[in-house]
Amino acid sequence: MTKTGPKQNLTQEPGLYVTATPIGNLGDITYRAVEMLKAADLILCEDTRQTAKLCAAYDIKTPRTPYHDHNAAHVRPGIIERLKNGAVICLVSDAGTPLISDPGFKLVRDARDAEIAVFPIPGPAAAIAALSAAGAPSDQFFFAGFLPAKSGARDKALKALAGINASLIFYETAPRLAASLTAMITALGDRQALVARELTKMHEEFRDGKLSELAARYALAAPKGEIVIIVFPPEKISVSTEQLDDFLKVALRETTVKKAAAKAVAELGVSRNDAYSRALFLKE
Ligand code: SAM
Repeated sequence: MTKTGPKQNLTQEPGLYVTATPIGNLGDITYRAVEMLKAADLILCEDTRQTAKLCAAYDIKTPRTPYHDHNAAHVRPGIIERLKNGAVICLVSDAGTPLISDPGFKLVRDARDAEIAVFPIPGPAAAIAALSAAGAPSDQFFFAGFLPAKSGARDKALKALAGINASLIFYETAPRLAASLTAMITALGDRQALVARELTKMHEEFRDGKLSELAARYALAAPKGEIVIIVFPPEKISVSTEQLDDFLKVALRETTVKKAAAKAVAELGVSRNDAYSRALFLKE
C-alpha cells in the first residue's frame, strides 16, 4: 500500500523524511527542511560532524546519529523499528539530496516495504544545479553518477552511454577529471561539454568547450574542488534524401532491405523509420 504525503507543508507525521541540504552555500536550504530537522526525533547523518555545522548555523538541536555505507546494514533494522513505533526521522547526507550518489536507498526501500511513510523534503542536488545553468539541452538528460575508478570498467561504462540521445551528467573527482574527459572523447566522440566546479561556493566556475579542449585544459593543471561534467547530446547528422538513397542503392546491391536500412542507421545516423521506408521504396 502506498501512503500519501503530509497534508500540509509543515505537518510532521511519523515517517522517514529524506531531507536535502546545501551543496556548498549554507543558505541553500528550504524553510521546510529547517523546520523538519528541528521537529524530528532523530537526524540520520552520513557524517555527524558535517551535519553539526549545518545544525549550528540553523540552531537545530535534534539528536544526530551516523547512517553511512559502513554501518547501514547494522543499524537499519533498529531505525525501521523506531519508524514503525511512530518516530519522525530525517535522513541527510553531507551535501545535497540523500540517495543521489549518497547513502539511503536501502533504508527507503526497507521503510516502504514495511509500509512506513517516506516523504521527500526536496532541495539542492549538484547534478540539477549544474544542468540548470549549463545551457545544455535539458528536456532529456541521463544522470550517470560517478564513473568506475578503473579505466577498463570506466571505458565500458562510457561506451554503454554513447547511444543515449540526451545530455549526460557525471559526478567526478578533481584528480580524475582530465583522464575521464579524455576517455569520453574515445567513447562518445568529441562532443560539446561543460565542467561545473564548486557550485554555489566562493570559487564556483563553469568552463565549456569540446571535450578535447576541456581535457587539454585540465591535463595542464588539475583543478581543485567538487565537479559535475555535463556532456551534450550527440549532434544530429543532417543527411539529404538523395544522399540516403545513394547509400542505400549501393547497400541493396549486396543485401536485404532490413540489413541495408540497419547499415544506414549505423553509418549515417539517420532514423530507423527513414532508412527502412527509403530502402523499401528503392527495392520496389
Ligand atoms: N548527494 C549529492 C547531490 O545531491 O548532488 C551528491 C553527493 S556525491 C557523494 C558528491 C559529488 O557530487 C562530488 O564529488 C561532485 O561530483 C558532486 N558535487 C557535490 N557538491 C558539488 C558542488 N558544490 N559543485 C560541484 N559538484 C558537486
